[in-house]
Amino acid sequence: MATLIRNGTLLTATDRYEADVSIEDGVIRNIGRDLPVAPEDEVIDATGRWVLPGAVDVHTHLDMPFMGTVSADDFFTGTRAAAAGGTTTVVDFAIAPRHGDYEQTLDAWHARAEGKAVIDYGFHMGVTWFGTPEAETGLRRCVARGVTSFKCFMAYKGTLSIDDGEMFGLLALSRDLGATVSVHAENGSIVEALVARHRAAGHTDPVWHARSRPSTLEGEATSRAIVIARQAGAPLYIVHLTCAEALEAVRRARAAGQEVHAETCPQYLMFTDEVYERPDFEGAKWVMSPPIRPAGHPEALWAGLADGTLEVVATDHCPFQFATQKVMGKHDFSLIPNGAPGVGDRMAVLYHYGVKTGRIDVHRWIDTCSTRPARLFGLHPQKGTLAVGSDGDVVVFDPKATFTFGTAWSEHAVDYSLYEGMPGSGAFDVVLSRGQVVWERGTFRGRAGAGRFLHRFPGRTPFPE
Ligand SMILES: [Zn+2]
Repeated sequence: MATLIRNGTLLTATDRYEADVSIEDGVIRNIGRDLPVAPEDEVIDATGRWVLPGAVDVHTHLDMPFMGTVSADDFFTGTRAAAAGGTTTVVDFAIAPRHGDYEQTLDAWHARAEGKAVIDYGFHMGVTWFGTPEAETGLRRCVARGVTSFKCFMAYKGTLSIDDGEMFGLLALSRDLGATVSVHAENGSIVEALVARHRAAGHTDPVWHARSRPSTLEGEATSRAIVIARQAGAPLYIVHLTCAEALEAVRRARAAGQEVHAETCPQYLMFTDEVYERPDFEGAKWVMSPPIRPAGHPEALWAGLADGTLEVVATDHCPFQFATQKVMGKHDFSLIPNGAPGVGDRMAVLYHYGVKTGRIDVHRWIDTCSTRPARLFGLHPQKGTLAVGSDGDVVVFDPKATFTFGTAWSEHAVDYSLYEGMPGSGAFDVVLSRGQVVWERGTFRGRAGAGRFLHRFPGRTPFPE
């Protein structure tokens, strides 16, 4: 039995054409006009609608212990929300405690995801210590176990961050292993000093979170990371780039021929730092690191997205309940759990505010949200495109539908939305993961545990067995 999606308009990062798509045993077997239908086939009529590759979010934090609490979406609710918003692959961060065993950390994240994920998932390993034989052995074992990307932090001093020498060593090892290093680029030492100064002066409100992390500190750390990667002869991937200074650093490095990749997130495109001035502690909803930037930066990011400097849009989905978790920092901005929901919003936000406004075209939308992240993290062409042999991760999308963003629309297990009340358009009518319908017109039809771990191979090998 096959699943046949008929009469839709197929869209990829490069192409647009009318065709049917046939999926068998979880894999796209055929794409073409007027494909034959067997009586037992499941037929999905996509007349008047678009057929897109399931999107790929390479930056999520599901069920993550952080700042004395745990992110609100687990691998069931988080991946269900992703599917509802057109995303069929997530790559989540397993983050080792400082001096924690990397393989045990990986085991722990497998335990979090198994039996829960409704779509396929991979892991990055968060590297919080380096420089000993144990650390290196642990990271080599992670690569052998299908985790071919590492993340390091220049911020969160004293808990997650590593120093420049450790980062240099990590980059050199990754180059030898064919793995990718991504970096959270903020100058953690100065952030810490500013936080201490603002607290000592009696400042408690959420706005002081942003004032402790100015964009200059992200620009500096981004430039420094680029220099360290150049010295190590390794490629570099910058997560959640938010500001013009960091964007310029990436542009300069690229122009000089260095391999530097950069990601941004919808919230940095959509908001300015006036959100932190909202009354009744509401600014805490946007407390994340790096913070939302002043006017001017979002425009720079949109331009960077259009001209290709920013290659990926991911979410940094890391939700905390406003009523019970964000309030931990009601009297001290430095105790507000950092993070916000977004895994289910990303595709719709970029469609309505990017494609429909003409800031990016439909192919750039698919490239930044699906194809490019799959390529950069060793998942393409299994994921991130529509091609014969690719997984049957497919979205039937109605480009004409309209709706209003908010908790009533998104499926996140959290009590607020960054986009509450904002207009949106498009509908993810049918979402398939490896040929199985997981979401259909507002109804979840998937199964907890149906998602599989994506074992990736170093050197971005396509089509892993
Ligand atoms: Zn993150």
